Parts: sequence; C-alpha cells; structure tokens
Amino acid sequence: MATVFLGTVVHTKSFGEFESFEKGFLVVDDAGKIIGVGQDYKAWASSNPAQAKGLTEVQLSDYQFLMPGFVDCHIHAPQFAQLGLGLDMPLLDWLNTYTFPLEAKFSDQQYALQVYQGVVEATLRCGTTLASYFATNHMESTLTLAREAVRQGQRALVGKVCSNCNSPDFYVESAEESVRATVAFVDGVRKLGSPLVMPTITPRFALSCSKELLKDLGDIAKRFDLHIQSHISENLAEIEVVKGIFKTSYAGAYDEAGLLTNKTVMAHGVHLEDDEVALLKTRGCSVAHCPASNTMLSSGLCDVQRLVSAGVNVGLGTDVSGGNSVSILDVLLRALDVSKHLDFFKKQNIRGTGVAETQDPNYIPLKYKQALYLATLGGAQALSLDQLTGNFVLGKEFDALLVDVSVVEKPMRRLSVDELVEKFIYTGSDRNIIEVFVAGKRIKQKYQ
Ligand SMILES: [Zn+2]
Repeated sequence: MATVFLGTVVHTKSFGEFESFEKGFLVVDDAGKIIGVGQDYKAWASSNPAQAKGLTEVQLSDYQFLMPGFVDCHIHAPQFAQLGLGLDMPLLDWLNTYTFPLEAKFSDQQYALQVYQGVVEATLRCGTTLASYFATNHMESTLTLAREAVRQGQRALVGKVCSNCNSPDFYVESAEESVRATVAFVDGVRKLGSPLVMPTITPRFALSCSKELLKDLGDIAKRFDLHIQSHISENLAEIEVVKGIFKTSYAGAYDEAGLLTNKTVMAHGVHLEDDEVALLKTRGCSVAHCPASNTMLSSGLCDVQRLVSAGVNVGLGTDVSGGNSVSILDVLLRALDVSKHLDFFKKQNIRGTGVAETQDPNYIPLKYKQALYLATLGGAQALSLDQLTGNFVLGKEFDALLVDVSVVEKPMRRLSVDELVEKFIYTGSDRNIIEVFVAGKRIKQKYQ
C-alpha cells in the first residue's frame, strides 16, 4: 500500500554526510520503492498529484524518526545456537573446541530449521534488514536458511561454507564435493525466485581451503558474477599459519585465487599490512568491521579510520557468535568504543601499558553519525548492494526502521533531531525499533 510518512527522517549520504528532515516526509509506492523524500510534503504533493492521490498517511510523534535499516555484513547463522557462550578462548582454539562441533550438527535438517528460524527472527527484531550470512558446509540446510530469510522477508546474502583442509574429520569436505555443492547451492537459491536473497561464495578462511579449492571458488564467482565473503587477518597466530602455507600475505592468498573483487567483503582486517590495504582498495574489496568479536576472541583493535582513509569500503558485522550480540546497534556502539580506545593508545601514556609505539596526536576517533553510516549505507556499499538499499534515495527499496526513543523511558525534554539519533545510538535497544520494513513491507510491528 502506497504510504507517506510525515515526521523526522534521517539517513547518511556518505561517511561524512548525515542528512535529516525535521517535520519532513518520505513516500513509498506500492512496489516498496521510495518515490519522494524531503522537507516539504505539500510542495511534493502539488507537483506529483497522481502519486500523492490515495496515499496512506502515517504521522510520526515528536520522539519518533525514520532511518534506513541496519546492515549486518558478517554473521554466522548456525552459531546463533551458542550465542553468548564459549567466549573464553582465542580464535583457533574456539573454532576447534566449540564451533566446529556445533556446525557439524547442521547435517540435521530439523535442527538447522529451528536455529535458522531463530536467527532470522532475532536479527529482524533488532532491525537488520540486510544480512550477509555464513551457514555451514551442508548444502541442504544452507538452502533452508535461504528459504527462511525469504519466508520472513529479510534481504540476505547466504553462503554455503567451504572447507577442505585444516578442519576436523567430522566437519570437512573434499574439494570436489565443495565445488559441486557450491554450484548446486547457487542454482538452488536462484530457483527460489526471490529478489530478496542471493547466494554468495564463502570459503571459510584461507586456512581451511586448499589453494586449488580457493581458485575453483574464485572461478565460480567469476562465472556466475557472484558476491564473495570470507575472513582476513583476524588474529596474529592465524596470520602466521596462513603466510607459512601460502608463502604470501593473507590478502595475496585470496588475490591469487581471484577472490578479491568489487563484490568481495572480508571480515575483520584487524592486522592488515599497508600493502594489503592498498590491494583491497585497488580491487574494490570491502571490510566488515566486527568490533565485538575482535574483543571477545582477543583478536585486536581494528583501526576503521585507517581503512576508510585508505579508500576501503567498511561496514559492520556482528560476527555471531564470536560476537556476543545479534544487534548491529550494539556493534555500532562497540565500534565507537574501539575507536576511542585506539585514540587513547595513540595519544596517552596509559599507566601500566606505557606509550604506544606510534603516537598520533592528530588522530580523530569515529563520530556517532559516521558509525551510523557504517551500520547502514556503508554496509550496503560493502555488500555491493547500495544501488538497492542503505539510504533514502529516490528509486531505492524502502528498507527502514521506525524508531521511538520514548518507548522505554520518555526523555526529560523535547529533543532535537540530532539528539533523537544520539539518544537511540547510546541508550537504545530493539525495543525502540517499533517497526521494520524490507522492500516496503512491514516485517515487525508495534508491540500490542
Ligand atoms: Zn566470522
């Protein structure tokens, strides 16, 4: 149903550009596309009389605003089953002790369905309108995840995970099986016929794939013009093993296989060397910044400002369950924290820690509006889907959140537009996200 929202509308246009319309408007057509947005609805309606006719009017309160939906650039759907558990180990031990045994259980279709219903529900409730999911090695249950995203109306990239080495006997496939199942999975997702869900090529990480398998996956991505996702430079111990096996840098290992393209998003990038950052920029690759996971698994502090300054697209990822929350709003706050902590190291002599080797008195940590960009348009750009979603540009799909900052506690005074957004970022939760829209369709409604 064609609708006009009347009230405060906010979005970002780039890393440094935040735009808001106080007492503004946004018009969505029957197809779920944005056909009008701005400050003066009366002026728009008089110059677009045919489109303005018969619109359903939704009046927002003084404490409500409309913003683009959150984009989660990196989430492991099966690990929702162990969310908040087993966070007492670094990456490689964590994988072997908790995560590989859990993911092996997804050969069971019933179990997979139960977990995948849960993760799609939970992320939608938290306002994730677009997610890039890792599933498991299992083709059938990964298709179940794709079907579940379609059924619940979430926009998603879904990947069958590929791993043929350095994995436990109970959770590994041959390169031939991996390639065959990946091609079948791509075909299976396309047969679903939904514009919301797309397949993405998903080598787990360089360490769990042979050079030959990585190359085959790069070829498949090229042949079918597919998105690609994986992990890069997450943890120092892992990086040393990768360099030992591939005899090149972490980024070099992927590049030799043709896996660094302008449709590639790599999670983490915490410890990338300067020449690797330059290579990602040259190839048009993006990074999914996962600050919660980087802290939980003791990986490190990723310097987002460094990546953005180098011209690399950056979005945010929950990295469930290395990260402890399904909410991109939580991750956004963690990104601000990590950036502040880096700022401390670069400017202060922290007692007990000493002086950072490279001080930078001119370092500027992330601002909340920039973090909002990373959580929305930055994420859409990182997933190469910004032509469809990420902000409120005419012709894009209406993927949006209706936020009400008065749900839990009414503010003590009337807030400005900037303050509404600031309040939501620093004190908000899924309870403040009262409606969620994907492609114009209302997915989550107000609590009754
Ligand atoms: Zn991950």
